[in-house]
Amino acid sequence: MGEVRAGDAISNLIQELHKLPGVGPKSAQRLTYHLLRASEQDVARLAEAILSLRQRTKLCSVCCNVTDSDPCPVCQNLQRDRTKICIVEQPQDIVAIEHTGIYKGLYHVLHGAISPTEGVGSDNIRIKELMVRLQENAVEEIILATNTNLEGEQTAMYLNRIIAPLEIKVTRLARGLPFGTELEYADDVTLTRALEERQKF
Ligand SMILES: [Zn+2]
Repeated sequence: MGEVRAGDAISNLIQELHKLPGVGPKSAQRLTYHLLRASEQDVARLAEAILSLRQRTKLCSVCCNVTDSDPCPVCQNLQRDRTKICIVEQPQDIVAIEHTGIYKGLYHVLHGAISPTEGVGSDNIRIKELMVRLQENAVEEIILATNTNLEGEQTAMYLNRIIAPLEIKVTRLARGLPFGTELEYADDVTLTRALEERQKF
């Protein structure tokens, strides 16, 4: 075991940052040298924030959103309309929908979408948890807000099929969202219209 040389620490961090989405080699290098110049206190705060992200967050036992309290603040909030559940693929989709301010129901996070080509089946995402919820609660509307790409559409169709026997109204975000849209990146106006004009699936 040799000592870790300064050059190794730098290239090590560059490599780790480069693994993050949207961070190219140039950005990884720039961030690394920025941190080298930053105060020790700032760097410690960043490292602590990254560590506690994994240590303190868990999945809400009701909606499967990431949270540091269980149930999450949305599931705990008695002002929310408990008869509606909006189904999304990823936690960040909730952030996008909440940002529009027009949706007052609950959520369910699937943590993925059905994709036979990538070997993701219905058992690999949080569908079982959803079905338990639907059986135990008086839900009147399910809003399918999966992405408008192939995987998102397949997932919406599958859910529609298995929810049908429960006689719950199933709606899908309106077609205002262009095909291939990831909800997370949709703008507020488009997303608001898609929610308001949601149609029976
Ligand atoms: Zn929750």
